[in-house]
Amino acid sequence: MDLGLKGRKAIVCAASKGLGRGCAESLAREGVVITIVARTEGPLNETAEAIRRATGATVTAITADTTTDAGRAKILEACPEPDILVNNAGGPPPGDFRDWGREQWMAAADANMIAPILFIRAVVDGMIARRFGRIVNITSTSVKAPIPILGLSNGARAGLTGFIAGIARETVQHNVTINNLLPGPFDTDRLRGLFEATAKKTGKPVDVVRQERMDANPAKRFGTAAEFGDACAYLCSAQAGFITGQNMVLDGGAYPGTF
Ligand code: NAP
Repeated sequence: MDLGLKGRKAIVCAASKGLGRGCAESLAREGVVITIVARTEGPLNETAEAIRRATGATVTAITADTTTDAGRAKILEACPEPDILVNNAGGPPPGDFRDWGREQWMAAADANMIAPILFIRAVVDGMIARRFGRIVNITSTSVKAPIPILGLSNGARAGLTGFIAGIARETVQHNVTINNLLPGPFDTDRLRGLFEATAKKTGKPVDVVRQERMDANPAKRFGTAAEFGDACAYLCSAQAGFITGQNMVLDGGAYPGTF
């Protein structure tokens, strides 16, 4: 299926690796001109070059922190009129909520709630004027089924989800959709870091924690960044203009609810 995205422009945040990179690769394959973002220059440039080589797409790499005003300004200067915005950032650390004060909560809210909202504010009116916009926020299945050790993520992402539920119904009449993609377990550095934290807490070897987690998933495996990226590309497609305000779960069936 041709997703009708050739020549569109996209900002993909937090995209030097993992799920953000998967989204960038899938969009680039569709002929989208992409601006990818991460804080560390070396790996970001390597990813940009790898995507150029693999897809022939035009890729601009911007080293910036999405949680800062200066970082967001730098990204928007590189791509002032995006047709597509993929909001993403690193996930907050796991732990016990008794150990977290205002500083930790503000950092989580900045990365996983406030930065996406400020990005949307910066680009949505241009999308409305041009009558095309696709905004995808990478959140987590923790929005639907909270994960106890990820309290910072449960809280911050639920705030973003509530905000999106309201605004997504206002923009769709202008062919601007806003949706959330909710990853379950995907084989990325983030997941490996969480296994290490669980191993430390439980005393089990990391390999055992990893295998147990895989066995517990109905698919008996983890998802891949490529699978995630292709779902993102579909939500960004010309054909997906009637889908807005949705929370799409990609978790191999782990979330057990009927709806
Ligand atoms: P990852 O493999 O650790 O990759 C994170 C990417 O984000 C890197 O490119 C990192 O590069 C960049 N980044 C982090 N903070 C940033 C910031 N403030 N500004 C710009 N770039 C930033 O993580 P992932 O697994 O792809 O996860 C992506 C998101 O999905 C996270 O929020 C994670 O919590 C969530 N999630 C993941 C899973 C999973 O199974 N993987 C499940 C549920 C939710 P730099 O460090 O160089 O900036």
